[in-house]
Amino acid sequence: MNALTDRIKERAHTLGFELVGIAPATDADGFTHLQEWLQKGCAGEMDYLSRHADAHRHPESILPDVKSVVMVGINYKPTTDTRNSELGTQYSELTGHVSCYAGGLDYHDVIRDKLKALLAWIQEEAPDSRGRAVIDTAPLLERDFARRAGLGWFGKNTMLIDKKLGSFFFLGALVLDLALKTDDPFETSHCGTCTRCLDACPTDAFVAAFQLDARRCISYLTIELRSSIPEDLRSKMENWIFGCDVCQDVCPWNRKSLAGSEPLLQATVTGTQVDLLEILRLSDEQFRARFRHTPIWRAKRVGLLRNAAIVLGNRGDARALPVLREAVTDAEPLIREAAHWAITRIEARDGSVIQTDADRCL
Ligand code: SF4
Repeated sequence: MNALTDRIKERAHTLGFELVGIAPATDADGFTHLQEWLQKGCAGEMDYLSRHADAHRHPESILPDVKSVVMVGINYKPTTDTRNSELGTQYSELTGHVSCYAGGLDYHDVIRDKLKALLAWIQEEAPDSRGRAVIDTAPLLERDFARRAGLGWFGKNTMLIDKKLGSFFFLGALVLDLALKTDDPFETSHCGTCTRCLDACPTDAFVAAFQLDARRCISYLTIELRSSIPEDLRSKMENWIFGCDVCQDVCPWNRKSLAGSEPLLQATVTGTQVDLLEILRLSDEQFRARFRHTPIWRAKRVGLLRNAAIVLGNRGDARALPVLREAVTDAEPLIREAAHWAITRIEARDGSVIQTDADRCL
């Protein structure tokens, strides 16, 4: 199997995966931690995690005769990132930030296609073998198996880190019934005494190093949370309309990491800056046309417009008031409530602004 293992790795690299390693199919190292994390309620409203918690114990829940887990990583770091440049032509007080992983096409589709191509190639080489591709959507503790496969270490921000790529990469897996030669696990940590990610988190979502309370995480609030965002966290969302990169942006391992080379994952579809007024005016059809094949689809129109209203409230620019006043008549109560909150906040900041000159200009 050694020769086949080497050739699988070569093939994975050819398909565009910068990282590839192989872990044995055993119990997941972090299963107990997952159970404790769920019991503490840190998953918030992500009930699907609790419903399928036991399935995370071992990859046999995905493939009964699994022997090996091929873990791959693909870099999505943008070649240019307008979020970090206030001189960027798109930047203004009326724009919001999108996490850079979400600025391109839906990574599930891109990675699934590559993993399926890899599986098809393996099945030509080993015709009786069986396997399944996994990208976020099956109960596999991917980061555990990635560390086991030698891909990197857990940063204090809970992300997997590679010395060359930093942490801006997606993970994917192929679970196989082939007993391949496995890699040594990544046993060292290279965070040292650094605590930048923990200190920089706007919502204090890290209870401690390596421990994230998702209920406070801006990514959870803007993507997974289907109900109203708690008021005490809204101002801390700052300008993030979908996801958040703060704990990765401050990480020294990301400062000099290489940009991604897969064009479909570059932040060129949605971009990392969006016009908030445009977002807040999107109809269902317009939302579908613009975001159907991007990661932003997950928030649905209601979540994205709720977030846009909150970020406009945080921006405090009175030019947003007319569009926010339109949004308080939206059919979705979540959007109405967020728009009302934003209006109240902007008016309180500007004094009793009812209609400004800027309003009349729009
Ligand atoms: Fe580790 Fe520092 Fe990066 Fe956090 S910011 S993951 S502590 S190196």
